[in-house]
Amino acid sequence: MNLSKHVKQEKERFLITNSSIQDKVFPMLEKISEREAKLQVSKHFPWCPFCCFEHLKIDVKPERKYDYVLCGNCGAKWEMNIQDKIRFVKLIATSVDWKGKDLLEKEMEPKFWQNKAWLCVLTRRTPEKPQ
Ligand SMILES: [Zn+2]
Repeated sequence: MNLSKHVKQEKERFLITNSSIQDKVFPMLEKISEREAKLQVSKHFPWCPFCCFEHLKIDVKPERKYDYVLCGNCGAKWEMNIQDKIRFVKLIATSVDWKGKDLLEKEMEPKFWQNKAWLCVLTRRTPEKPQ
């Protein structure tokens, strides 16, 4: 019997029946593997949502509450909470030209940033070069 899997199932069962108090009782679900976490992050951040830069730095570590994505081109940085999936993504630094300042420190769905990244490449095909 895989104990950690069992614990996870128990937690999930509890959360389904007690969804309204979810955050107070279990602020942390078991985190997915580092590999899976990186995969999910790169899926939601295929490129920078602000400047379309393709080589984002994904800083994910197991057993850490928050992980990070950084754009080495425009300087934008995101913090995310990954548990059984990416729970939220928060912009913690805007681009150097202040893109995203209205979204700063807001907890968003990962899908929001994924859509924004796609919008970036659809509206502007060539990434900006570093200054
Ligand atoms: Zn960028």
